[in-house]
Amino acid sequence: MPDNVTIVDHPLVQHKLTLMRRKQTPTADFRRLLREISLLLAYEVTRDLSLTMQEVETPLARIRAPVLEGKKLCLVSILRAGNGMLDGMLDLVPSARVGHIGLYRDPVTLVPVEYYYKVPEQLGTRVVIVVDPMLATGNSAIAAVHRLKESGAQTIKFVCLLAAPEGVTAFSDEHPDVPVFTAAVDERLDAHGYIVPGLGDAGDRVFGTK
Ligand code: URA
Repeated sequence: MPDNVTIVDHPLVQHKLTLMRRKQTPTADFRRLLREISLLLAYEVTRDLSLTMQEVETPLARIRAPVLEGKKLCLVSILRAGNGMLDGMLDLVPSARVGHIGLYRDPVTLVPVEYYYKVPEQLGTRVVIVVDPMLATGNSAIAAVHRLKESGAQTIKFVCLLAAPEGVTAFSDEHPDVPVFTAAVDERLDAHGYIVPGLGDAGDRVFGTK
């Protein structure tokens, strides 16, 4: 495993992931589990945020105490399944700014094509956390991170729920400076680009479209 990859092996994350893999898990449960697991992944990915000391008056004394340093961090969702991860992360970091990137795969060239891009200003001074539940081929994540770098982002992290070894390798080769956080790395990709054993189509399962 490339050393920019962190597998979040917390028992709550692993338990919730198993519930999400079950094909009989209903849409409402899947959505709630994704929200809960995203909060836990957000806890891990924000572990190294910088702190600064601030003066605070408690009812008993005046002290210097730590608060987050710098500009509000920025979550960037890769549409549409990434949106399923936003609420849980925003539960934990409510003042984060949020960007969206829409990419579709050209059916002939298989190259990701951008159809939507809206991100907050001053990306260069924010920690940017890109979210997409499935790192499969890695093509969308690779393209999204290239686009964010073009917009000036300097500190980028990528968070997913599940990854395929192929996606991890492709992403890490292209963006070795971007740490990847995932709950698991599964066996492989199938011929249609699905992660096996995986959990199926994350977007369809979050939004109930199939
Ligand atoms: N996207 C999904 O939603 N599921 C996969 O298994 C791969 C890509």
